[in-house]
Amino acid sequence: MTRIRFALAFAGVAVSALVFHAQTTLPQSAYKFTEIVPGVYSAIGTGTMNVGSNSAVIVNKDEVMIVDSHISPESGRAMLQELKAITDKPVHFLINTHFHYDHTNGNQAFPPGVDIIGHEFTRRKLTGDILEKGMFADLVKGLPKQLDDLKARAASETDPAAKARLAQQVPVQSAFANSLKDLKVTPPNVTLVDRMTLFRGDREIRLLYLGHGHTGGDIVVYLPKEKVLCTGDLLVHDVANLIDGYVNEWPDALEKLKPIDFVDVIPGHGEPFKGKERIDWFQSYLRDLWKQGTALHEQHVPAAEAAKRIDMTAHKAHYPAITAPGVNLPAVSRMFEVIEGRADR
Ligand SMILES: [Zn+2]
Repeated sequence: MTRIRFALAFAGVAVSALVFHAQTTLPQSAYKFTEIVPGVYSAIGTGTMNVGSNSAVIVNKDEVMIVDSHISPESGRAMLQELKAITDKPVHFLINTHFHYDHTNGNQAFPPGVDIIGHEFTRRKLTGDILEKGMFADLVKGLPKQLDDLKARAASETDPAAKARLAQQVPVQSAFANSLKDLKVTPPNVTLVDRMTLFRGDREIRLLYLGHGHTGGDIVVYLPKEKVLCTGDLLVHDVANLIDGYVNEWPDALEKLKPIDFVDVIPGHGEPFKGKERIDWFQSYLRDLWKQGTALHEQHVPAAEAAKRIDMTAHKAHYPAITAPGVNLPAVSRMFEVIEGRADR
């Protein structure tokens, strides 16, 4: 139940992003490409399609690398199609920064011959039971109701502007649900454990695993010459999703980002940003969360009660979405899972 509720909340984030975009323009494209440095782009959803996560596009001398494949077969196909607006070179490499469905469900859209590279933990998860249990299974279970709720809200909304925004989301979310019916979970065919470096033309691309964090197998993509870092969900614009995280180890993985000489960050969610201050912000959030979570666990406070009591408002200057005490229950359930040694290693 808790996981289902979280999946709905997670989907709700995507919906609110759609609301924002619907207020601005009605672009036909699914993606907005922004060139961060020459040949390296961030791709962020415009709202006409549910694409889930961001991706990065790295155009090399002879071919292209995409970092993360988005949330559905449809969004993966849209990436391949719209990419033609920025380059006519073929895609040869797809990186999965981690196993979550909003970063990997588009994998199958990439043609045979494209190497899909990820951590061996990512491959293990994607060849495992993710269709049966966990975040993705809960999403699929919750989608019909979510869609019905969205339709009901669109029908009953009296404010014309809000009604129009909700009405616009209905076909977007219906198309998303439909696209998932064709899903064939497609794991990486090339795996790494600690690091891998690709030399493509004059570009060096380093794939680095820095320890348990957002999942058990996050990799970051680092371009040393261009000083660009693609962080997946290890470090995002806001507080990352914690449902498969290792809150105790995550700050150490983030610490290993600090000596890396980067300027631009393309995160898995949110706008690209510059610099390292967000590392400190998030480390401090995670350490505080772990401290409060372990103290409550020690006092045998149930997860649901702990979720109400944990107070992260000290961090609201960095994370404006925090407006009151309390954190989401799945984050706490997950911490308790880690404390009790029930998390995947
Ligand atoms: Zn994720």
